[in-house]
Amino acid sequence: TKPLNFKQELTCVFGQPVAENPTQCMIEAAYQACGLEWRYLTIEVAPENLEQAVEGLRAMGFRGANLTIPHKVEVIQYLDGISDAAAMMGAVNCIVRQGDHLLGDNTDGKGFVQSLKEVTDPQGKKIVMFGAGGAARAIGVETALAGAAEITIVNRSAERGAALVKLLNEKTEVRTRFELWDGDFTLADDVDVVINATSIGLYPDVDAVFPLDFSSLKPNMIISDVIPNPPETHLLREAAKIGCPTLDGLGMLVNQGVIGFQLWTGVDPDPKVMRAALEEVFGV
Ligand code: NDP
Repeated sequence: TKPLNFKQELTCVFGQPVAENPTQCMIEAAYQACGLEWRYLTIEVAPENLEQAVEGLRAMGFRGANLTIPHKVEVIQYLDGISDAAAMMGAVNCIVRQGDHLLGDNTDGKGFVQSLKEVTDPQGKKIVMFGAGGAARAIGVETALAGAAEITIVNRSAERGAALVKLLNEKTEVRTRFELWDGDFTLADDVDVVINATSIGLYPDVDAVFPLDFSSLKPNMIISDVIPNPPETHLLREAAKIGCPTLDGLGMLVNQGVIGFQLWTGVDPDPKVMRAALEEVFGV
């Protein structure tokens, strides 16, 4: 018979605010489905306590953690090393314990690329991406590393847009340019993939109108959105009407979770179990 064990392996997310972060439900569903006696805790950590919180992870032998707003950049100084991609983005959303070391990685962009690969290979594609914040930086770097031919960054503030273009031009091979977003944006006919990496449409702003000339959408364009809640956005609704293949923000959320799960446990979780857990909490 199996010996009694009341000590589970621990993982968590640190953020502030963090109460509405749904990651716990999808990761714990996957732990159960894989028969792992692991837990995933949702922990509120204020910025001034981040260093002590990371030391706490070490002391208590946590196997891994996620970081969300506002910790993704600040956490780097408390880790023992970070991946090349995380260094390029200057942000870590996933910590993995290896022996005594806490190593940082960034799975957001990899999760997006994994979702995209389910419908097309990013290699050689022309991409238009709206937004230049944290999610856009992660997606920009990973789609560039996955071989995208061209990325047009469209952003409301020129400063952040230009900073992302500079990063991609300096650190990757992709051709990158910036277009200021003022008014409805018109897509060129030869665009392959459109990505909303802004927060337009995020709960509670559910009726937000996406500033795009929707007559410029073509049925062969792949239209994707990072918004996890609600997963159906104005952009995706309009794209579906035209017959475009669409990718919602739950796909990215699940896939970044899959990558973190593999890094922590060495086990492949079932993405369908994770998506079903999220759909249940979001009432999809
Ligand atoms: P940031 O605050 O870093 O960036 C926000 C971006 O959205 C900026 O480019 C900002 O433009 C733009 N933006 C916000 N409001 C508007 C508006 N009304 N009109 C035009 N542009 C606007 O946020 P993050 O990058 O961290 O997050 C962005 C979204 O991605 C969030 O909704 C988050 O939920 C989602 N996300 C989803 C993940 C997933 O797994 N599905 C993972 C990570 C994030 P400007 O520079 O002009 O301010």
